[in-house]
Amino acid sequence: MKDKAKTSVGPSASLRTNNIIKKNTIGILSLGCPRNLVDSETILGRLSSKGYSIAENISAAEIGIVNTCAFIEEARRESIDAILDLVELKKEGRLKKIIVCGCLPQRYKSRLKKELPEVDAFMGKLSLNHQSWRFPITPRHYAYLKICEGCINQCSFCVIPKIKGRLCSLDMDAVISQVKKFNAHEGFSEINIIGQDTSGYGMDLYTRPKLSTLLKEVLKNSPAINWVRLLYLYPGRVTDDLLKLIRDSSRVCRYIDLPIQHINDRILKLMNRNTTRKEIAALVEKIRKFIPGVFLRSSVITGFPSETEKEFKELLDFLREVKFERLGAFSYSREEGTAAYDFKGHLPQELKIERLNRIMSMQQKISQEVNNRFLGRVIDVLIDEQEGDAYLGRSEYDAPEVDGSVFVRSKKRLKPGDFVKVKITDTLEYDLAGEAVE
Ligand code: SF4
Repeated sequence: MKDKAKTSVGPSASLRTNNIIKKNTIGILSLGCPRNLVDSETILGRLSSKGYSIAENISAAEIGIVNTCAFIEEARRESIDAILDLVELKKEGRLKKIIVCGCLPQRYKSRLKKELPEVDAFMGKLSLNHQSWRFPITPRHYAYLKICEGCINQCSFCVIPKIKGRLCSLDMDAVISQVKKFNAHEGFSEINIIGQDTSGYGMDLYTRPKLSTLLKEVLKNSPAINWVRLLYLYPGRVTDDLLKLIRDSSRVCRYIDLPIQHINDRILKLMNRNTTRKEIAALVEKIRKFIPGVFLRSSVITGFPSETEKEFKELLDFLREVKFERLGAFSYSREEGTAAYDFKGHLPQELKIERLNRIMSMQQKISQEVNNRFLGRVIDVLIDEQEGDAYLGRSEYDAPEVDGSVFVRSKKRLKPGDFVKVKITDTLEYDLAGEAVE
């Protein structure tokens, strides 16, 4: 199972750094989640509209930008490693300037300034604005549509509200104007709607969640785009209206991303999640009844402070029972500035990892069972790329970057963004393989 994206591209953008940048070639390394990727594309779009050129990859650039992630320890380490790689390039004289932006400087700017004097500029979060042109880093046939920034929830383990602030939804008209641009751009086949918690969309601007209203507008204004996918739905805010839309529109992927984080009521309460086991179980049941054939993705955390073996087993048993078709599991990361940082009962790292491994090895079997259901079936596949004499694509049940792929053999020449009917002939734990049938 894949997880985090790391995308290196040469883009260009207009940050307020004209004192540093002299229209050189820019390269960017985008770390972390798709939300960061959207920011990287915006940075590149702004710089390129100011006349900077974009290197094919960062090692060919004169100015290197790292858009960092600082969500958890592992992400911070990856961000620091990426910066240090650029520092090396600068020492060798292959890079003139280094700019670091995103979550890491937003959180630790003064410390970084002291410890990394080789970096020329540190910048925090970007103002959200769909009016800016985005330089595409993702393959050009799918796009991320960020509808909000920050988060209205206060999960006790999560540092996002500290880094990104409270929920800030984009005005619906601005979102729709971006959708129209995607629709007019020839070759877009898929829109992925993202935010920290997309189901909270509109609670700040319109006093109540407006995701289903927004989704209707997105569908109305994107007739040329075949797939619209919703990511990151907070379980407590999945409404019947939204489920109806997913069920009734042939263009909304039957894929619901519903991070539950845990299932034991005591742990959920400590996590400050506003849901209980009963509510989560009822929601899962309802979604599956409401939308036959839907694929559910979830994510969970192992080794939260004071989690007992019994509570962990409760989570494991629940996952075995509900069989989420897709699952991401993470070991708890103790983050400064979060409520859980000061909780009692932090567990040893080995125990957190051991529990994580138990979940993932169970999920591996579930995933294989799920994939076996596809054998002999013909499904729609969106082609992402060519690989040798075959192609890599995805079904509507696979989000880009995080889920599996479909390996496709085809007599006909295909290109990224094409939809093709594929007969599944083989299954792996996380991927499928088959032949194009038309
Ligand atoms: S909903 Fe997600 S982003 Fe928001 S506080 Fe909870 S874990 Fe963090």
